[in-house]
Amino acid sequence: MESYRSHYSKDVSSKEHGKTITVAGWVEDIRNIGSIAFIILRDRKGTLQVTALKKESAELFEKLVNIPRESVIAVNGLCKKSDKARNGYEVIPKEFEVLSTAETPLPLGVVDKVESELDTRLDNRFIDLRKQEIQAIFKIRNKVIAAVHEYLTSENFVEVHTPNIIASSSEGGTDVFKLKYFEKTAFLAQSPQLYKQMLMATGLDRVYEIAWYFRAEEHNTRRHLNESTAVDLEMAFISSEEDVMKILEGLVQHMWKKAGEYKEELDILGKQIVVPKLPFKRVKYDDVIQKLNKNGSKIKWGEDLGTEEEKLLGDIMKKEGHEFYYITKYPIEAKPFYTMPKGDKYSRGFDLECKGVEIASGSQRIHDVELLKKRLKACGLNPKDFESYLKAFRYGMPPHGGFGFGIERFLMKLLDIKNIRECILFPRDRTRLTP
Ligand code: ATP
Ligand code: MG
Repeated sequence: MESYRSHYSKDVSSKEHGKTITVAGWVEDIRNIGSIAFIILRDRKGTLQVTALKKESAELFEKLVNIPRESVIAVNGLCKKSDKARNGYEVIPKEFEVLSTAETPLPLGVVDKVESELDTRLDNRFIDLRKQEIQAIFKIRNKVIAAVHEYLTSENFVEVHTPNIIASSSEGGTDVFKLKYFEKTAFLAQSPQLYKQMLMATGLDRVYEIAWYFRAEEHNTRRHLNESTAVDLEMAFISSEEDVMKILEGLVQHMWKKAGEYKEELDILGKQIVVPKLPFKRVKYDDVIQKLNKNGSKIKWGEDLGTEEEKLLGDIMKKEGHEFYYITKYPIEAKPFYTMPKGDKYSRGFDLECKGVEIASGSQRIHDVELLKKRLKACGLNPKDFESYLKAFRYGMPPHGGFGFGIERFLMKLLDIKNIRECILFPRDRTRLTP
């Protein structure tokens, strides 16, 4: 048999009609109606029909119809034009080879109409990913990450990679995974925060990273993962957090636009993309609290918004015509230690929300080392644990700011996916460590 050229079903052009071709893929379905059988073969591009006729070779026919579903086979045969078959052609088999036999029963169906539990799907993610609507999510994910590189390169940002094994917690707080690092204790980075800020002291004054966040959050929600990815960005010589917000909204719009070009995948998911207009609405934290309290919330000034408040705000903002909106001028106590204060009570920190869910947080940062130490202490952290970070602020550090922007959160909102676990290949949550 000639080499198993992947059939890329849609790429088999009419030029091949009447020729002998070799196709390979997973046996998605076999419909045997006695004298004739239709074997649906699938690969990354789609499916095609192999049509076996008993009268041509009873032996080949019997062997073919008894192959367990989801086995991988290669078929050599005539590519025949057919108006009835999907794609306008079918393959009449001359010979075939089983490259890998699937065990039965399958732990999870690929084309079955019954919906499986998310846990069953995640336990068998390699099969779950054979479904075109699941693959579509990850093809779009790939596209929007490509859009990140495209947009930020055009804005003169440099992509960097910083350590994930670190000596002090990057965001403060207790949501940090500890690990043994030879004789020492180390942490998994909650974000690249400390490193991207240190880079602001180097002259690489616009950096970003497609970062892994490790967060030991105990709660199990539909929008939190214990291991997630983010676009994490830092830029120097800014005048205020507004410079950072401009980059972030430009980036979000570009990603949305690029995702919209993936018509085939969006059709599979039944989604339409409407590119958001810029600038996004800016609402001050104080006004947010007022809006919420007017609508029945009991949130107190100074508190961070919880799930319910965020949802309520999403509804209020939607009525005002905004799917995307920034919450600005946060109280300093609701923001991490590195956030630049604004007066006594406020900060230069902001969140970007989309339809009731936070998708990014950012701020102008503190670049004065004494103020930074003061804020570390005020947040219950010990400046001694941050010495190598603080050092970068002592020999010339420009004003700077940045943001962290969750990729899975973005996908949830882009594609209206209810559970964040759907947006990452192999999710890590409070109980899931495999596969
Ligand atoms: P939240 O309040 O929604 O729990 P956060 O304020 O703790 O998030 P940040 O530290 O501001 O999160 O992180 C920046 C962005 O990274 C968030 O806006 C979000 O998009 C994403 N992100 C943070 N933590 C998680 C997580 N546990 N799972 C998924 N995405 C996350
Ligand atoms: Mg945040």
